Amino acid sequence: MGAGRPARRQPACAAGVFVKAGKDTRAAQEEIARLRVEIEQHNYRYYVEDAPSVSDAEYDGLMRRLEALEKDHPELVTPESPTQRVGATPLAAFGAVTHAVPMLSLGNAFDEEEVRAFDKRVTDTLRSSGQLGPAAEPDYFCELKLDGLAISLRYEDGKLAQAATRGDGQTGEDVTANIRTIRSIPLQLKAGAPRVLEVRGEVLMNRREFERLNEAQASRGEKVFVNPRNAAAGSLRQLDPKITAQRPLRFFAYGWGEVHGPAGRQAGKFDEPAPGTRETSTLPRDSHSAMLDWLGELGLPINTQHNRKARGADGLLDFYARVAKLRPTLAYDIDGVVYKVDSLPAQKVLGFVARAPRFALAHKYPAEEATTTLQDIEVQVGRTGAITPVARLQPVFVGGVTVTNATLHNEDEIRRKDVRIGDTVIVRRAGDVIPEVVGPVLEKRPADAREFRMVTACPVCGSAIERPEGEAIARCTGGLFCAAQRKQTLLHAAGRKALDIEGLGEKLVDQLVERGRVKSLADIYSLTVEELADYDRMGAKSAENLVHAIDKARKPTLGRLLFALGIRHVGETTARDVARHFGDMDAIMDASEEQLLEVADVGPAVAASIHRFFAEHHNRDIVHALRQQGVHPVAEAAARTGGFSGKTFVLTGTLPNWTREEATSHILAAGGKVSGSVSKKTAYVVAGAEAGSKLANAEKLGVPVLDEDGLKQLLGVRE
Ligand code: NAD
Repeated sequence: MGAGRPARRQPACAAGVFVKAGKDTRAAQEEIARLRVEIEQHNYRYYVEDAPSVSDAEYDGLMRRLEALEKDHPELVTPESPTQRVGATPLAAFGAVTHAVPMLSLGNAFDEEEVRAFDKRVTDTLRSSGQLGPAAEPDYFCELKLDGLAISLRYEDGKLAQAATRGDGQTGEDVTANIRTIRSIPLQLKAGAPRVLEVRGEVLMNRREFERLNEAQASRGEKVFVNPRNAAAGSLRQLDPKITAQRPLRFFAYGWGEVHGPAGRQAGKFDEPAPGTRETSTLPRDSHSAMLDWLGELGLPINTQHNRKARGADGLLDFYARVAKLRPTLAYDIDGVVYKVDSLPAQKVLGFVARAPRFALAHKYPAEEATTTLQDIEVQVGRTGAITPVARLQPVFVGGVTVTNATLHNEDEIRRKDVRIGDTVIVRRAGDVIPEVVGPVLEKRPADAREFRMVTACPVCGSAIERPEGEAIARCTGGLFCAAQRKQTLLHAAGRKALDIEGLGEKLVDQLVERGRVKSLADIYSLTVEELADYDRMGAKSAENLVHAIDKARKPTLGRLLFALGIRHVGETTARDVARHFGDMDAIMDASEEQLLEVADVGPAVAASIHRFFAEHHNRDIVHALRQQGVHPVAEAAARTGGFSGKTFVLTGTLPNWTREEATSHILAAGGKVSGSVSKKTAYVVAGAEAGSKLANAEKLGVPVLDEDGLKQLLGVRE
């Protein structure tokens, strides 16, 4: 359980010690047999039922352990071992398709050392065969490892004739009718197609579409999928193609199988057959990358945006690092990158092992999902009293870190996911996103699994918990009487986007509140170096730095101070808009709801919330106490006019050079606003690669769409 990290290869057992070796072999034999049965069961659930019951990381751990044992005991390797075979036997309900060229898997690497070892093997083989000069390094073609399912598309005379899943690598399932419903797959190739062309690639589903599909499935009481890969596989492997047609599947080509008969275009003759090609044919190019270009020219979708050439192990590792940064912004899941020797003659020299080519390697990212045990569900009290259930987990390695807690959002979410204490659960941590519990593994539910019950009193201050009709969130009614809310309010106020008091962190705030030294925000300003030096983990130097930071925070902008007060529904942008509109704190405190509604983009909920906040005496008292401590906000800089003031931009997709944050700050600096959703009021949608439904909405509503260059031009930014 919790095998987040793949098992490392085991050292070879001591040779020469006969008795020990005999015992080792017996033990290994037993473990191998056990692992094979277990892996085959997982293969069936994953490849045939599209419903795995362990995470990929856990599966990879089992597979690696088996590989290590077989490496140490080569005499125990059998052709039936899962290490020697691909996938699982295809389902008989589909027609069987024998692949003219087998569909293989890929060798895996999980760390730099294994990538360097791969590059060394390739380089040594190619140098000794004369394919590569003595000092030359191989050229590689690097691709994303798309997390979907492999498909072979057979085109005859340019027409889509048959499509098959990988199955066990030799025989796949006939899914032609289903594949025909995927719009990005051409039914007819462009001019230049050879007589027979088998295209290999991945069918996948975008993350957002997967979430939508699952919501729709859940609302109809139908099966929800664990992740986009399983949703893609489950959608494609339908006996009724009408169902596939309703599922948002997409396709990328990354290889080929049989290529037969003269290519229609005579762009150079290639004497050697491509690896995996049954027959020498007039192929247009002699490298993998050129072949992909050619497939692209024939009208097949190729991932040209992300594919790159690289040289040597350092080039590969650079690509890996670059894609790792990109991974959270992609519209679809990838589980690694794939390195392929680019030269086809060199590929031929390298050849194959049982289930994978020697000229390619999958370099995997730390798994974003893992399974573990949900030990308990506790509740946390937030700044506004919101009660958030938090899963306490048996520590598990996922997304590159060890996770012990994960959010469960709210009570309804727990019921919807049917998560119970004691369950084995799937935990997901993608990019820097807070880890979350995806759902339970039902077949592993213990008999004594317990349902979660929401607390009726605040675990921190004992006040009643309320959950207003129609709201998903339960709240502690203690307000600033509740120490948890006080702490969160102070941390929020000290945050980077508010008063920006560096050094006022969680540990210190806990102590200040618990000792009763700080009751409200204003008390922060009376802290002295001498007393602070007395707190845990505070030296004289850090106390001095903190008091300096607090002093600097006596002159925040009005917007930052308003935001720091932590009024419900008042985010950073709204606070700035309100500050600009009214100009000083007294005017804001005395504003009626109607006056507040005059601020552009302030709606009834925000106006009511601000009005209600300042109607409370204790909140006005905080503002007065702050003044007494010498806190005097400065006026918010007027928005730069220049045509952008009040104009709302919506960003979607990945821009080629600017990150979202960079684009946002340029827009804000020019006086514009950035919003998350497209409406008729949106001035421009800025779309990058993999733009999603926002782009479609913009087109529907007739909102002008810009790319990064267009945005830069509009803003007058030269970079
Ligand atoms: P793999 O997924 O590690 O690698 C081979 C596959 O990568 C190819 O078949 C192809 O589908 C895909 N691929 C994506 N992008 C590619 C590209 N650019 N070029 C070439 N191929 C590309 O190997 P596998 O044999 O398909 O499956 C093994 C993996 O499946 C395991 O590592 C595990 O993560 C998962 N698995 C999980 C379970 C489970 O129970 N959770 C069970 C079986 C398999």
